[in-house]
Amino acid sequence: MKLVFTVDLDRDANIEVPGQTEAGSADRGEGTAPRFSSSGWALARYADMLDSIGMPAAFFCEGRTAEALKDEMGCLDRFELGIHGYDHENLTHRIPRAEAAAAVRHGFDAVKDVTGRTPSAFRAPYMHQPKAVAAFLRDTGTGILTDSSMYASGPGSFPFALPGYVAEVPVTEGTGPEGGAMSGYFWAMHEGKRPPEDYSFLAKSVPEDGTLVLADHVWHIRESRASGVRSDEDSQKELDFVSEVLRALMDAGAEPETLSDAASDAYMNPGPSDGADSE
Ligand SMILES: [Zn+2]
Repeated sequence: MKLVFTVDLDRDANIEVPGQTEAGSADRGEGTAPRFSSSGWALARYADMLDSIGMPAAFFCEGRTAEALKDEMGCLDRFELGIHGYDHENLTHRIPRAEAAAAVRHGFDAVKDVTGRTPSAFRAPYMHQPKAVAAFLRDTGTGILTDSSMYASGPGSFPFALPGYVAEVPVTEGTGPEGGAMSGYFWAMHEGKRPPEDYSFLAKSVPEDGTLVLADHVWHIRESRASGVRSDEDSQKELDFVSEVLRALMDAGAEPETLSDAASDAYMNPGPSDGADSE
């Protein structure tokens, strides 16, 4: 089994704010304006942790967060970069398609300016993938040919080619040990609702030659959605949980793979779109 790890670099505890396309941050007493301090606290620590266990990762960066954290972004030099909108826009809800494409382009330009590197993948904010994503990505003018804005489970846990020569590297989802729905995002773990071992259980649903794709949010190390900003000690515990999950998987034989290598695999795999109308 291959193991691909992806991390979203968002504004802290992002939320949709009614009446605007830009996301806000969960209100901790000072309104819903975007905050970046939790992501800022955790970013370099996250990168160091991944380095220390030898785990490659792709970071999907919002343009505005990359600008806000420009002094910290150097720690991502060793990792792949993707785009996650400029202002964490919901690209599928009450936003004209041309504006949605422009927002992604804006995010791409911002991340490129800050890092001096060219982002090579896309993940839609809220995982709300625009329809006909290959045509959408073409409209952004970014040249991006890799998307990771879908979920896949069980026997479908493989990268696959979407119509329009875009590689889809879907995030794994499935069923937890207790029988409930489970996402490959570490959301539930950081909210205290799943122990690290549950992700090893999820891994068992992925075929031996399949690809387990896990995901996390940088801010979630420092801030719980439900209970607010954590102490240094509690934040470190969350980082340790992530490292525990990833190390357990590698110890069990999962082979770390970069997102770009997984995207190359997409063109070799028969995916869910194979055999269907591929126009
Ligand atoms: Zn996001």
